[in-house]
Amino acid sequence: MAANWVTAKVIENQKLTDRHYSLIFDAELMPFQAGQFARLQIEAKNNKGELEKFANPYSLINTPDEKYAEVYFNTVPDGKVSNGLAALKAGDTLEIAQPCVGFFVLSQVPKDIKNLWMLSTGTGIGPFLSMLKTAEAWQRFDQVILVHAVPHANELCYAELIEQFKSEHPEQFNFIPIVSREDKEATLRGRIPALLSDGQLEKQANLKLSKDNSHVMLCGNSGMLKDTKAVLKDQFKMDRHLNHKPGHVSAEQYY
Ligand SMILES: Cc1cc2nc3c(=O)[nH]c(=O)nc-3n(C[C@H](O)[C@H](O)[C@H](O)COP(=O)(O)OP(=O)(O)OC[C@H]3O[C@@H](n4cnc5c(N)ncnc54)[C@H](O)[C@@H]3O)c2cc1C
Repeated sequence: MAANWVTAKVIENQKLTDRHYSLIFDAELMPFQAGQFARLQIEAKNNKGELEKFANPYSLINTPDEKYAEVYFNTVPDGKVSNGLAALKAGDTLEIAQPCVGFFVLSQVPKDIKNLWMLSTGTGIGPFLSMLKTAEAWQRFDQVILVHAVPHANELCYAELIEQFKSEHPEQFNFIPIVSREDKEATLRGRIPALLSDGQLEKQANLKLSKDNSHVMLCGNSGMLKDTKAVLKDQFKMDRHLNHKPGHVSAEQYY
């Protein structure tokens, strides 16, 4: 299907760390579900120095009800789209493909789940922030555990929004930050699969992870996804969730 490109106008492009950005833009979006993504397209010079259009998918952090769209992204060395997005200033335009798509949404989580575990690396926290801004997340689950793993503590972005979830849902919400490359107070040190395997994540959450009452959503890099799925399968007997074969684990791989 040919993409339906819609023009978006940048409202704000905030640099959060040396390589992380929050891009807020105004665009006429078709109805979508929290957690979905859309391709963003910018114009940049190709290797021959000619202007060319480049596009890649990005998750929306905003909910369908919010006025402006927002993506949380990091630049990658020589990456055309991420560096193109980083260069955008208020008033600039880009294009967004419509409709937003993807199955990494709460409506795909099986019914009668008590505890929802959201495990993310880096900008993979984006779709979870969108989901947690909706009422559905707090109406459906007894406990929501959000895990955010980053290399350095300054990459634990969106702290204010996460504090808001904590103060609005103190009994229901547990946020577990993980930092892999430095010691930081009030964070776990290491990687998600290892901390899940040795019981530290469950201890920190004060909750047992069980396939009888829990669903795990994973979002981020392929290494985390692969290793975490293996731990979930081997130690917790949790299988991939498919529409035709209900399971316990859903995943969205960024790269
Ligand atoms: C469904 C989906 C949703 C996504 N949502 C987001 C999002 O919300 N925010 C976001 O930052 N990215 C997201 N991505 C990744 C994004 O689409 C791009 O791959 C990334 O921004 C790099 O694009 P580029 O054109 O700059 O570089 P490319 O030339 O496309 O990639 C260059 C290299 O960088 C690697 N790479 C891609 N992403 C990263 C990364 N985040 N960190 C380190 N290396 C990377 C690729 O494997 C590739 O080898 C998503 C990907 C998918 C599939």
